[in-house]
Amino acid sequence: MDLFKFAAGQNFPSGSLFLVPTPIGNLADMTIRGLYILNQVDVIACEDKRHSANFLKAYGISKPLYALHEHNEKAASAHILEKLSQGERWAYISDAGTPGISDPGAILVETIKQAGFNVFPLPGPSAVVTAISGSGDFLKYGDGGFQFLGFLPTKANQRDAVIQRAQQAGVSSFFYEAPHRIESSLKAIAQLLEKDRKILIAKELTKVFEEIHVISIADLPGWMGSVKNWQGEFVIGIEGQPPTKSPSAFDENTKNWIHAIGDKVGHKELSEIVSAVTGISKKDAYKELMEIKKK
Ligand code: SAM
Repeated sequence: MDLFKFAAGQNFPSGSLFLVPTPIGNLADMTIRGLYILNQVDVIACEDKRHSANFLKAYGISKPLYALHEHNEKAASAHILEKLSQGERWAYISDAGTPGISDPGAILVETIKQAGFNVFPLPGPSAVVTAISGSGDFLKYGDGGFQFLGFLPTKANQRDAVIQRAQQAGVSSFFYEAPHRIESSLKAIAQLLEKDRKILIAKELTKVFEEIHVISIADLPGWMGSVKNWQGEFVIGIEGQPPTKSPSAFDENTKNWIHAIGDKVGHKELSEIVSAVTGISKKDAYKELMEIKKK
């Protein structure tokens, strides 16, 4: 079966940039279209030429490489723009995962788009999406919504402020953290969050020693004590706050008119009205109305 024929059916105009995600661990997690594009373009821009040369060699791809990283992104983007204006096709790959997701790529994409050229982002591996898809009902308080806050800040006071922001959010929040800071960040999380709040720890996704844990803060110190090796890559999640604890869910005024019309309208209809007026989801409105009725 010629798998590349599906990839070849897609637009491949000249003067275009293709953003190609690469594996976050298991080398087999490369899409067929990603491989097709890397085989077709004139040049592959990458974060680290040595790292990407090894990766491309594993797939038998031999192309000119051009370095674009966080320290030269502006100048490198101008160079790539000039090459696209001459009709070339380029790909950009970061060291791992999806370009532009806690990785260089944003300035490049902006430069190319502003000049009116095509940018084609391809779907593919990303650690945060991989962690979320394996997180079970970890998104339940936000109706399936979530926020991704990138890397936790390195300064302790800024990091703690971001953790507290996640604590207040109605949706679950996800972060990246560097291996040498993971232990101290988890300690801070254990100190700042309430005991029944859940967190997600996803380690070494798609690799041999892959782990995904969802544990309450009460159990976190015990779990940390059992960890023998902190080496590895981590995604951290903080569960959103339950709707009834949300300070903005129902203010006094909302509660007053709910009481005034509560007996005259069915529970489902009332949830819909409350949702339309307050902006909170119908599901959360329904749950909170149940709580009010119990009181
Ligand atoms: N662009 C990448 C993406 O789309 O996921 C992220 C690159 S960022 C520089 C690297 C961070 O992503 C790591 O410090 C870690 O927090 C997370 N990460 C990357 N690979 C991972 C893996 N296999 N398991 C868990 N986290 C990972």
